[in-house]
Amino acid sequence: MEQVELKFLLDNMLGKLAKWLRILGYDAVFLETNYDDELIELAMEEKRILLTRDQKLAKNFMVPTLLIKSEKVDEQLLQVVKRYGLEMEEHLLTRCPKCNLPLKQIDKEDAREFVPEMVYNSYEEFWMCSSCQRRYWSGTHWQNIKKKVSMIKERIDP
Ligand SMILES: [Zn+2]
Repeated sequence: MEQVELKFLLDNMLGKLAKWLRILGYDAVFLETNYDDELIELAMEEKRILLTRDQKLAKNFMVPTLLIKSEKVDEQLLQVVKRYGLEMEEHLLTRCPKCNLPLKQIDKEDAREFVPEMVYNSYEEFWMCSSCQRRYWSGTHWQNIKKKVSMIKERIDP
């Protein structure tokens, strides 16, 4: 199975982790519900791996589930990356962290009216999320994300 085809479903304690999995390029749905049944049903339907902080839910036999141990998002991400052998850099920043949809590269011209002029003049490549319509580029924010990811990665293979 292609690693990138791994899909996740996260419980209501794990919103930040969902965002970070998307940043790595993985399909990560965050479902805010208090009902375990809803989580299990969706995970079954969409063949998602369930990530939860709930010990009882983690013991279900219905869907593949990982109990997330730490409260800290860095540790959480590290646990998931190690457990499933996730690729940390190959698909980095290919998915909208907000909407969970793959980003599409767009013509530079199509970014013009949506980004600050300085950004437009400084970057050649732009991406867009077709859901929230946000434009992305490889600016400071993305560079900081890349730095953080490579710091976490160092802890796996120094
Ligand atoms: Zn979006």
